[in-house]
Amino acid sequence: MKKTHSHSLMIAAFVLAQLAWLGLLSIWIYWYVSNYLILEKVGVSLDDQAIIEYPNVFAFVVGIIMIVGIAVAIFVIFRNLTVQMKLNRFYDNFIASVTHELKSPLASIQLYLETLKYKNVKEEKRKEFVNLMLQDSARLNRLISSILEVSRLEQKRIAYNYHIQDADIILSKLLSNSMEHFRVPLTSMQISGKTNAKCVIDEDSMQNVFDNLLGNAIKYSKSPVQIAVEFKSDEKNIIIYFSDNGIGIDKKNFKKIFLKFLRLDDENSPSVKGTGLGLYWAKEIIKLHGGKISVASEGLDKGSTFIIELPIYNTQKKFYLKSLLKSSKKKVTTEQ
Ligand code: ADP
Repeated sequence: MKKTHSHSLMIAAFVLAQLAWLGLLSIWIYWYVSNYLILEKVGVSLDDQAIIEYPNVFAFVVGIIMIVGIAVAIFVIFRNLTVQMKLNRFYDNFIASVTHELKSPLASIQLYLETLKYKNVKEEKRKEFVNLMLQDSARLNRLISSILEVSRLEQKRIAYNYHIQDADIILSKLLSNSMEHFRVPLTSMQISGKTNAKCVIDEDSMQNVFDNLLGNAIKYSKSPVQIAVEFKSDEKNIIIYFSDNGIGIDKKNFKKIFLKFLRLDDENSPSVKGTGLGLYWAKEIIKLHGGKISVASEGLDKGSTFIIELPIYNTQKKFYLKSLLKSSKKKVTTEQ
């Protein structure tokens, strides 16, 4: 519905631009022709030079400006159209992969339920089936929540709870929560560095960022994953390096992977499930914290490093960080 609406909007904008362009062109032709004819009529009584050169040069310049204007307008419309078409393609991919992700755990839950209903299943097997169904429903729950969270983020409907935190304490806590969540053994992790700094953080949303990065490091690694996390700081920023030994990312995709719904589709990628929302979500959360996220990779099969920068409290973006803290306080008092 929304897609058809935006399509018709694009078409309407395109038609309007064409009409405006044709209108402008007709006015110009009319103006040029009438001026030229009038001046030609009175030309006999005036100096020849002034009659022929003045209107021609002026009209020529106006004409050129108009043509450049039209070219720029058409370029802008065309660019918007291609961006829109790209977004639509990503959206279609998203729908396809989400539908698949919703259907497969549902199908397996249905299968277990039918087996339990129609067959005589031993107690041990029954317990195993129940556990598998619980896992599938947790997977469904995670997927649905992640989609809902992104839409709430976009509609600014998330109540954030920002606090000034000791970066070393909070970041290690978030990392160990993620490791526990994905059952990553300590032997697969190499954690180093210290920030000795304070930052302003909303724990829940930053936890999501860490979960996404760790989840991706596991998903996009063919061999047993090795992850290195390094914490650092300079005068203004806390910097977190999040490296894996996975499939790596081609330089041309460094920016692309943070786009909404985008999933890289090359033969190097293992066929793992996803929605293309994780990194988009991470980028938006980091942006809300006044920071930025980027990626570096030596190339395919050479691993990837995600770099997060967060402003150190009281060194930069003071006004912005204070406004985050204030907005949380306000929420707390209105909730009480
Ligand atoms: P999803 O994992 O659901 O596809 P993301 O937004 O988390 O969506 O990631 C977007 C794309 O970026 C992924 O489809 C994958 O191709 C690429 N990517 C993300 N993390 C990594 C990583 N650690 N190593 C290699 N490629 C990655």
